[in-house]
Amino acid sequence: MDHFPIFLATAGRRIVLSGGGDAALAKLRLLLKTTANITVFAPDAAPEIENWATSGKLTLIKRSMEPGDTMCAVIFYAADGDAVEDKRTATIANADGALVNVVDNLEDSQFITPAIVDRDPVVIAIGTEGAAPVLARAIKADLEEKLPSTLGTLARIGKTFRKMSYKLPFGRARRDFWRDYYFNAGPAAIADGAEAVQPALDALLDDHLNREAREGHIAFVGAGPGDPELLTLKARKALDEADVIIYDRLISPEILELARREAIMLDVGKEGFGPSTPQETINDLLVEHGLTGAQVVRLKSGDSTVFGRLDEELDAVTAAGIGWHIVPGITAASAAVASIGQSLTKRHRNASVRFLTGHDMQGFADHDWAALAQPNEVAAIYMGKKSARFVQGRLIMHGADQNTPVTVIENASRPDQRVLSTTLAHLPTDLAEANMIGPALTFFGLAPRATSEIAPTVISREFAYV
Ligand code: SAH
Repeated sequence: MDHFPIFLATAGRRIVLSGGGDAALAKLRLLLKTTANITVFAPDAAPEIENWATSGKLTLIKRSMEPGDTMCAVIFYAADGDAVEDKRTATIANADGALVNVVDNLEDSQFITPAIVDRDPVVIAIGTEGAAPVLARAIKADLEEKLPSTLGTLARIGKTFRKMSYKLPFGRARRDFWRDYYFNAGPAAIADGAEAVQPALDALLDDHLNREAREGHIAFVGAGPGDPELLTLKARKALDEADVIIYDRLISPEILELARREAIMLDVGKEGFGPSTPQETINDLLVEHGLTGAQVVRLKSGDSTVFGRLDEELDAVTAAGIGWHIVPGITAASAAVASIGQSLTKRHRNASVRFLTGHDMQGFADHDWAALAQPNEVAAIYMGKKSARFVQGRLIMHGADQNTPVTVIENASRPDQRVLSTTLAHLPTDLAEANMIGPALTFFGLAPRATSEIAPTVISREFAYV
């Protein structure tokens, strides 16, 4: 972050702008929303600026800026739209100690003006550090559409009610009250006019004061394979509302970013054969937080019902009398197969597909290798990197064709996704050479679909490995 967003107190402070044309007008329209004392220097000002001056909204001085004109100004806009004049006025303002913005000149500006969504007192500032103004405008348009125009009124009335809400205990109870106000009772009341809002607030507070303390609850949420856009809407909502989030190693940082800022984040990562948080500790944490009345999200990669040790956790919270529900997620096999343009099942090829784990708690996992070694079988092998040689040995021993296609997808759905296309005969050596360090899913019996859309991401025996 090269630019740190802050909200500047403007009441009674001085803001100076040099310029009288279109660039100046655009900035002044924004600045006039503030409570600052605005001074404009322009030998030649647009009629609108003249009108604002006449009606006392700003002070217009009809000459070019001189040293000392920006004394005591907090910020200054060089908006003459002329590089030489902008440089001259910026130098003056700098010397006078004001923070300087040169319109449309990121490099010479000490601050930038964000795109703004104004529902005063709710104000949203959107910045892209000058990298993508188009994107900022698109986000702004999106938010303008989503936020009701009555939001400002609701917030203003809500602000006068803050102290009353202190009758509710700090934390969840108070948050629930405000959520109810802004998203249910408030919008419903304001439909009958602003004067209906205050009585609605009184009634809502009574209602919340009489509520029983909320009980703790655990949501077992599947976070999908890593791409935050593959989260379900239910998962998003659970992350928004969580008091505590207990998450695994494979949860991507982009997904953790979506959690409510105030949530307690607990990392209980487990790594293959490596160090891990014992399952009993995770169970205990779930129970401990559930019993405090917290809304806990147990965030697991992919779908929590697939190789997620879900049942042990369900048993623990059930035994403690804590309520729970499961939010399904997209499992790694679904994301991986999508990335190679294939189907998990296919008419006349395979009518069933197996999800296997390469290893379990005892070590390499055993399966019905003889059945799997038959032609046209497809299996998605989770946690299969370390067991590649073992799986290969078993399958070949049971008669599998050495030329059966095998595809390994690392970091499926993430920006650093890689695909290794090989055969059963070469799996262990090619995998070792590819040196995959991210989570990887192995498909036995599937090759990437041969299309130009997939080929560039594929490392295969024919492609030089880069
Ligand atoms: N519950 C998870 C699986 C947990 S087991 C799910 O439904 O996906 C962990 C294994 O899942 C990893 O060893 C790897 O084999 C696989 N995996 C998880 N995320 C993955 C990803 N983004 N790309 C490839 N494989 C992944």
